[in-house]
Amino acid sequence: MTNIILLGPPGSGKGTQAKLLAERIKRPHISTGDILRAAKGTELGDHASEYMNRGELVPDSILISMVEDRLANPDCASGSILDGYPRTIPQADALNRILSSLDRRIDLVINIDVPDDRLITRLSARRVCECGATYQLTFNPPKKEGICDLCGGALYQRDDDTEESVQNRLRIYKRETQPLIEYYENQGLLTAIDGGGSIKEISGEIYAHVK
Ligand code: ADP
Ligand code: ADP
Ligand code: ZN
Repeated sequence: MTNIILLGPPGSGKGTQAKLLAERIKRPHISTGDILRAAKGTELGDHASEYMNRGELVPDSILISMVEDRLANPDCASGSILDGYPRTIPQADALNRILSSLDRRIDLVINIDVPDDRLITRLSARRVCECGATYQLTFNPPKKEGICDLCGGALYQRDDDTEESVQNRLRIYKRETQPLIEYYENQGLLTAIDGGGSIKEISGEIYAHVK
């Protein structure tokens, strides 16, 4: 069983790395940001997007029941890769409860460390596709401008990748999410990774810890 959490500030590469790792070790990639964005048009999704566009966290109660449902799905029976959850101490406490009720536990928490100035550069030139692919105009550009390599779809900028929202997300990250580093360190679960290298270097390093 392999239950892994990817922790890190917005723009640290959690989504990029979680996707690569999920393919490599054949475990589902659970991105709470993706789930919330996919709920667009539903009552839950529209409620959540008000928080998301401002760069604020969606309330814990919503996230906790969402993750509880997702982890109960049979595809998670042999493990999962959590990307973007938990983001607060109450979410982490709830995760412990959820996993132990399923007779599972967290095996590894990987913290991807990247300095602030680099996060802002990365996010301001992030482009995404409906299919879930993520690009960066300088470091990870698509082969053809504006077009997804994987599905040919049109790339676009996320509503929350504006300068103002990014600054807000970094502030909230420091206040609400950063304390999880110590939380998991105290549980002996944390591995820190330098997120400043190339996508390939980092994925190799993560895989070496997971193996
Ligand atoms: P997160 O899920 O943590 O917000 P993403 O995986 O979406 O981060 O990455 C943020 C942006 O940075 C994306 O545009 C992505 O293509 C790019 N990126 C991811 N990893 C790296 C890296 N190691 N070096 C440079 N850019 C990266
Ligand atoms: P990023 O790439 O910036 O790390 P995500 O795609 O993971 O962003 O999440 C986008 C937004 O969705 C967050 O800024 C937040 O509003 C909301 N969100 C995602 N996961 C959580 C969570 N665990 N708790 C609260 N809000 C969340
Ligand atoms: Zn695509």
